[in-house]
Amino acid sequence: MGAFANHFQKRQARACAVALGAFALFTAVGAAAIARGANDHDRAIEIDLEERRNGALRVVYDLPRPVSRLDLGPDLGGYRTRAWRVIGGEAELIVEDGRDVLRAAAPLTRFRTATLEVAPLRIERPRTYEAISPLGPDGALIYTGHFQPVSADGARHRTSISVTPGNRRHVVAFSEVVPHLSGWRSRFDNPAFIYVGAPPTIQREDLVAVIDPSIPDWAANEISAAASAMLDYLGGRFGWALDATPNLFVAYEPNGEPGRAMFSGDALPAQIRVGLAGGAWDRPSYFATNVLRTGVAHETAHIWQTAARPADAHAPDWIHEGGANAIAAKAMVEIGWWDDGAAARDLATARSSCIELIAGTSLPRIEAAGGVDASYACGQTINELAARAHPDGAIGFWNEFIQRARASGGYGLDMFFAVAADHGGERFALELRRLATLPQGRPAETIARIEAAATGPATGLGAGPVAASGPIIVDGAAIANVGDD
Ligand SMILES: [Zn+2]
Repeated sequence: MGAFANHFQKRQARACAVALGAFALFTAVGAAAIARGANDHDRAIEIDLEERRNGALRVVYDLPRPVSRLDLGPDLGGYRTRAWRVIGGEAELIVEDGRDVLRAAAPLTRFRTATLEVAPLRIERPRTYEAISPLGPDGALIYTGHFQPVSADGARHRTSISVTPGNRRHVVAFSEVVPHLSGWRSRFDNPAFIYVGAPPTIQREDLVAVIDPSIPDWAANEISAAASAMLDYLGGRFGWALDATPNLFVAYEPNGEPGRAMFSGDALPAQIRVGLAGGAWDRPSYFATNVLRTGVAHETAHIWQTAARPADAHAPDWIHEGGANAIAAKAMVEIGWWDDGAAARDLATARSSCIELIAGTSLPRIEAAGGVDASYACGQTINELAARAHPDGAIGFWNEFIQRARASGGYGLDMFFAVAADHGGERFALELRRLATLPQGRPAETIARIEAAATGPATGLGAGPVAASGPIIVDGAAIANVGDD
């Protein structure tokens, strides 16, 4: 049982690491984009993406005026110099101080256009999206962020993106399903996914989804049902709608190991990308269904969270990752996918992982070293503790947090504990802050102090600590289906 719990956590952590990077990438560029604001009167940089027969993209930059260099952003471990080739214009692609730069090919000259061919190669960095990745036998997902140049102050240049798909194909961006996308800009002022390929699987007012047709029917049905249920639930519970029709993009790798249900997820504003792999998707099981629902619930929570952005790059990941887990757990119970016992076991698993990970060190130290497991486990623990002092739990806490962040230009650590103090009292918020920021000799005792300190007027923390007892999944068949690492 313990081995299974460890195995399951490992799987979940690995899957979530992708989501973490995606979200972090979004928040970093999002804050910069806001800072730049409306003072930029320049004509946008026009970027034309045309899908080629060989799966590559032809990318044409048309600049409002000639420049000597154009910063494309961090070099991503040499990804662009391997996969991108300049095929026209007077520019060359070079690496300069760890950044990819399009530079005028001849000294003391400028360029106004550049044409590149981008091969569909993997970016070997787990926290970064692919520029173009396959989705289904005849489709691809483009991430616009890698094409949008960055100005000297770190903000992205204003860009206008056009996409031409291959023969008889479609382009999907939020609610738009068109044969050719022209002069497009995300309403979120943020990089986005754009799909090219077969028509969407689902095209409704509340959801436009592209689901790899090779996914077994039961899993395809289950994931679209889970996304619809979560969108409906969160829209109702938060009480406000997303600013765009959400997209769900689901890719599938059927050649995974037998018994494994691998789920990876990314979230951008109003967009979720999911990757499924492994043999456990071949036939319905409680195990695989639960992995789908918890994963979709986590990513859907993220797209509501993206209504607020960190005020700067220093807002720790545990806030939104733990918040997404806490919101997801609440949703799983209220939708009826989990009973209270399953939710309690989920929280207990997060708590015991957090206690194990943080003992003898601190959450900021683990996050600084890239330890994503603690962002989820301790983040969920802190978020659930904070939420239990709120009369409307995790969703009420986050709704208040988001509104406050929107009113004051973004969120940070102080705002999180200010909301906690409003409902659980100053002492409670202080103990919570200690768990989140200070080195922990005996983290279980800190958690006990947090629970004792709550003086919140509403529900308080009457439920007391939850005993750590076993894995999230208790279904016997599911355990038998899952191999060991
Ligand atoms: Zn996440």
